[in-house]
Amino acid sequence: MNLILLGAPGAGKGTQAEKICEKLSIPAISTGNMLREAMANGTEMGLKAKSFIDAGKLVPDEVVIGIIRERLQAADCKNGFILDGFPRTIPQAEALDEMGVRIDRVIDIEVSNEKIAARLSGRRVCLKCGATYHVEYKAPKTEGVCDACGDTLVQRKDDMPETVLDRLKTYHEQTEPLKDYYAAKGILRVVEGQEAVADTTARTMQALED
Ligand code: ADP
Ligand code: ZN
Repeated sequence: MNLILLGAPGAGKGTQAEKICEKLSIPAISTGNMLREAMANGTEMGLKAKSFIDAGKLVPDEVVIGIIRERLQAADCKNGFILDGFPRTIPQAEALDEMGVRIDRVIDIEVSNEKIAARLSGRRVCLKCGATYHVEYKAPKTEGVCDACGDTLVQRKDDMPETVLDRLKTYHEQTEPLKDYYAAKGILRVVEGQEAVADTTARTMQALED
């Protein structure tokens, strides 16, 4: 199954991507994580992406399209994949179509703007393995330390309140039109994000079937 997860920053796309990855044994592909990894490694692409990411803006289409084109050719994508954070613009969606990539389902996770602000301000991430935590809702066993790999957790620069507003604006302007794009193809399903992750997961799994 080839899936796309849509939703505002902090709607919980990454968490659901991990759950679906476990259940269906298909890779979760996060452009955000790939870009952050490139930034941490100081690659040319990482340096180019940094100014956009830190400002809450989108990285140019040709950069992320290039990343995805290459990633989808890997052997582990043969039986399907979950795209988390791609596409984020209409040209990115059109690029997928032009690559001949068939998408089976697009799950849109809806969460109110107020909840999103609270979720992002408490979010902590591991730059080494990409795991995400929340100081209140999903605390690591030891404060500030990644359960999965033991690395130090950090707050993303773009999770600071002043940048969050820019990211929400970017989302509404550039990414939300994708809902209509995929609804017109009959493959969009809307899931209301719930308080408990397990409840959202149950609804997401249901949406994959109908
Ligand atoms: P979130 O979904 O919480 O906003 P991500 O980790 O998916 O976070 O993305 C972080 C940042 O990386 C985005 O704000 C954007 O700058 C950049 N980015 C990720 N995916 C894309 C994409 N498909 N197109 C353009 N920029 C992207
Ligand atoms: Zn880690």
